Amino acid sequence: MTKNKRTLTDISEIGEFSLIDRLTSGFKNRNKKTIMGIGDDAAIIDTGEQYTIITKDLLSEGVHFDITYSPLKHLGYKAVTSNLSDIYAMNGTPTHIFAGIAVSSRFSLEALQEIYKGIELACEKYNVDLGGGDTVSSKAGLFISVTAMGSVAPEMVTYRSGAKEHDLICVSGNLGGAYAGLLILEREKQVFKANPDMQPSLKDYSYVLERQLKPEARKDIVELLKEKNIKPSSMIDVSDGLASEIMHICKNSDCGASIYEEKFPLDKMTADVAHEFKIDPSTFALNGGEDYELLFTISQNDYEKIKDQQEISIIGHITDKSSGAKLITVSGNEVELRAQGWDAFKKEENED
Ligand code: ADP
Ligand code: MG
Repeated sequence: MTKNKRTLTDISEIGEFSLIDRLTSGFKNRNKKTIMGIGDDAAIIDTGEQYTIITKDLLSEGVHFDITYSPLKHLGYKAVTSNLSDIYAMNGTPTHIFAGIAVSSRFSLEALQEIYKGIELACEKYNVDLGGGDTVSSKAGLFISVTAMGSVAPEMVTYRSGAKEHDLICVSGNLGGAYAGLLILEREKQVFKANPDMQPSLKDYSYVLERQLKPEARKDIVELLKEKNIKPSSMIDVSDGLASEIMHICKNSDCGASIYEEKFPLDKMTADVAHEFKIDPSTFALNGGEDYELLFTISQNDYEKIKDQQEISIIGHITDKSSGAKLITVSGNEVELRAQGWDAFKKEENED
């Protein structure tokens, strides 16, 4: 390990986005039909009247889920919905999924069937077909990989790159709930480990637990925008926390942004959990992950169409690039946004 230390780069030092960039920046698209390759929520392929959308996610046991508290049916459901969220982020309609699993003999047929019951439930709810997949054995835990496909009219695709100065920044639903749920689950797991006779006290936290364990994708928001005749100028789903997603929009759209802390949509239970853990609830919204809400920008001309929508909050506006990505705090301070989000390769404290 130490022998080559000087020449080898430790991936924990460069972060997930830089890693993807370093691995893929040398690739050129060779097919004229590739409209969008790497770099957005999903790839866009020109397949005629309707473009095809494709995206892939991989969930790894112990990193993305913990089977000591994640019901297997929910896990299957989440593996699908978290993926469909990227299809909706392109303003598309999902049509198919493909599921790959790597399993160890530790899992029974019945356990795997539970995962597939969840996959089926999501297929039913979101009207998608399971088109295939792959099944292999694993010596290191459970892995679930889902590829999702969808379609969208060419003129309706929403990229991360279309935001314009003065556009309004909107977000669906509420933020930080999934992280609140995760903190509760982790806390109860530790309590249980210390004393297996203690029953976890989870019933007061049902909403945030559901946000973590069984998230929905915002099909309804894409449908609402269509109904209101609004095409967002840019869109991304919130999988890594608001700060990280705002910064993606700024980078890809070559712009700045100002978001206002007082406008953050926070559910009461999320705020209560934050207070219980003595953490600022805004931190949950900015840096918590896995909310699977949609973050999008619209022209100010569309303001009237959206202003009374309960499920959509206007949290700020797009500025010029030189202004940077800023958070205006409740007390009126301007703070530069930093994407703390989930750093997938950050070393655990007790790791070598
Ligand atoms: P999201 O959070 O929306 O799923 P990611 O941050 O995971 O998006 O990925 C950003 C972009 O990088 C996407 O276009 C994705 O397809 C691409 N990407 C991620 N990992 C890889 C990889 N290992 N090889 C090729 N492309 C990748
Ligand atoms: Mg995404």
